[in-house]
Amino acid sequence: SQIKQVEFVKSSARARDCPKDDLPEIAILGRSNVGKSSLINCLVRKKEVALTSKKPGKTQLINHFLVNKSWYIVDLPGYGFAKVSDAVKTDWSAFTKGYFLNRDTLVCVLLLIDASVPPQKIDLDCANWLGRNNVPLTFVFTKCDKMKAAKGKRPDENIKAFQQIIRENFKQHPPWILTSSVSGLGRDELLLHMSQLRNY
Ligand code: GDP
Repeated sequence: SQIKQVEFVKSSARARDCPKDDLPEIAILGRSNVGKSSLINCLVRKKEVALTSKKPGKTQLINHFLVNKSWYIVDLPGYGFAKVSDAVKTDWSAFTKGYFLNRDTLVCVLLLIDASVPPQKIDLDCANWLGRNNVPLTFVFTKCDKMKAAKGKRPDENIKAFQQIIRENFKQHPPWILTSSVSGLGRDELLLHMSQLRNY
């Protein structure tokens, strides 16, 4: 399940511009600052693989990375930039929703959730939207190394609160994995999970 080779293939502005070679793909999505670039770099064990522009308001693109010449990791634009206009936000949802609904080779979305903060409405909205549209989903909690943080900020409490809300909204709780790009927690579990997803 290890990543031996990864190469950037292309950035696409729309689902219909994405690679057409029918390889399975796993998309990674989350609020900006959730730790997406750190997690991708931790999985790949390389620096600077995530090439996305992180500047809010810049053109948002779907980035395809070919892994071991056999499947894609797809880096989706982060949502929830505090500083962007409503026009950019609407843009984000229109084009990302198009991707989720039209991409036949999409095996699963890894929805990154920052475990160092309490449940955020925008993450829950996103999870619920994906669930309602039957997009296969795995929750990947990030920054779980902060387990010794002060009460009220502890990842285990935040995760429990998040999952409680998800249980109320989903028939079945999607799979979840606890990770930290700092300690490497969950790295191998996530890689194994991704290889199982591809082999269904
Ligand atoms: P992105 O905007 O989602 O790509 O987020 P980044 O990967 O750039 O990370 C955002 C911030 O969170 C940075 O300051 C990182 O150092 C920090 N961060 C990312 N992952 C972790 C983690 O696993 N643990 C801790 N403690 N901090 C993290």
